[in-house]
Amino acid sequence: MHIYVCGNITVDEFWQVDHFPAEGESALGNKVHSDVGGKGANQAMILSRCGLTTSLITATGEDSQGEWLRQRASDENLLLLPAVASVPFSDNSVIFTTANGDNAIMTSNAAANSLTPERVSDWLKAAQPGDIFLQQGNLSAPTTLALFQLAKSRGMTTVFNPSPVNPAFVDCWPWVDIAVVNQGEAALLKPRLPPHGSLIITLGASGAELQRDQQHWQVPAIQAEVVDTTGAGDTFLAVLLASSLLRQTAPDSLALHHATAAAAITVSRRGTWRAFPTRAELQTLLSDRHPS
Ligand code: ATP
Repeated sequence: MHIYVCGNITVDEFWQVDHFPAEGESALGNKVHSDVGGKGANQAMILSRCGLTTSLITATGEDSQGEWLRQRASDENLLLLPAVASVPFSDNSVIFTTANGDNAIMTSNAAANSLTPERVSDWLKAAQPGDIFLQQGNLSAPTTLALFQLAKSRGMTTVFNPSPVNPAFVDCWPWVDIAVVNQGEAALLKPRLPPHGSLIITLGASGAELQRDQQHWQVPAIQAEVVDTTGAGDTFLAVLLASSLLRQTAPDSLALHHATAAAAITVSRRGTWRAFPTRAELQTLLSDRHPS
């Protein structure tokens, strides 16, 4: 079984600044670290760390950042489709943080937007019925919908995490088998899945719930010393999916437990890829069949 994630990959740069620069101003700041980010890359990398064969259909640039992203993906056994640059510039997020904790973020998405249904269709030619197709909310609504329809026409199981949210994503529900949404996305998009679909709603520090076949399960979050919640949702989704796929079952209460345990690790560390549970941590966590 092969997992195809279609989404963005970015270089995230974290800056500490005294104040946000005003229009026309030149200001000094400190770049404190950089990391790989982007919801597509985050989820794909964690699935790969869980031991699942995962490809990320994405776009990296001809610039030095693109080279760095491709190397980091390869270090993680994550297959990039295409494996070479397909756009002039990689996508970036620049995150400015002030001493009082305010932040301002600028993100580019030109690379991600180069992923048209025609281009993605080429990368899905090898997909088999039963393979997984996972998308987030970084592509336009028409492209996202067209890709779910394409994946269903190939007999794939589809998974949707509609973040960043777009009201037009409501049209996707008939083509989605598994949806993972936070409370805001649930309220806006009111997911209505086909019969036997699984709906997972994450509740931040309050945990998560699962609805499937008129049944309902809920788990509390695991207490953690919270340092940075960036990527908690991505960790949760990837581990929930990995836990079910590795046991060849639909998402269940054990998968919810595994996902909350993994997300608690992520919130206790700063950063994106560097904050996510390691392969060893994930192996231990996923082998626990009776989590408390
Ligand atoms: P993000 O976009 O920030 O990655 P999200 O909005 O998609 O997150 P959340 O519902 O905030 O998703 O969090 C996902 C999961 O992460 C939760 O279901 C929970 O298991 C875990 N989590 C989030 N916040 C905390 C916290 N403060 N303490 C422990 N676990 C947390």
